[in-house]
Amino acid sequence: MSENNQRLEIVTPQKKVFSENVDFLVAPGSEGELGILPKHAPLITSLDIGIMRVQQDKKYTKVVVTGGFMEVRDNRVTVLANAAERVEEIDVQRAEAAKQRAEERLASKSEDIDLLRAELALKRAIMRLKAAAH
Ligand code: ATP
Repeated sequence: MSENNQRLEIVTPQKKVFSENVDFLVAPGSEGELGILPKHAPLITSLDIGIMRVQQDKKYTKVVVTGGFMEVRDNRVTVLANAAERVEEIDVQRAEAAKQRAEERLASKSEDIDLLRAELALKRAIMRLKAAAH
């Protein structure tokens, strides 16, 4: 790895979603977006549900992360998340169905529904659709 380069690893309980050298990335930190260049100072942060933008050789790619944690240290960026998908892996129909289910739950105003859970499911679906759309 050259010193202008850093390693990004995105890991979920099921699999390693991403493990490549990258030039630059922007992560959805829970307190705002964080741009990470090589030689970044060490940090640990929680992540929001959102889109991670990754630059490699002037090409950009996107990975949806559903929250979790990110550690930056020694030109290594490690993301641990419950779920993450590279943009090309996103199943748009599935995300549309999840969005509709979450919206219906939120609209039902039933006392039995777990509001936070439905809101988080809606946000995951919206981010998947946004990443896949452009
Ligand atoms: P669903 O209700 O469709 O399962 P969800 O938001 O509850 O959506 P998660 O719990 O975030 O799903 O993820 C469960 C697993 O399914 C993870 O491995 C995740 O990467 C994958 N996954 C969820 N939605 C999609 C999608 N639209 N396209 C591709 N993979 C998906």
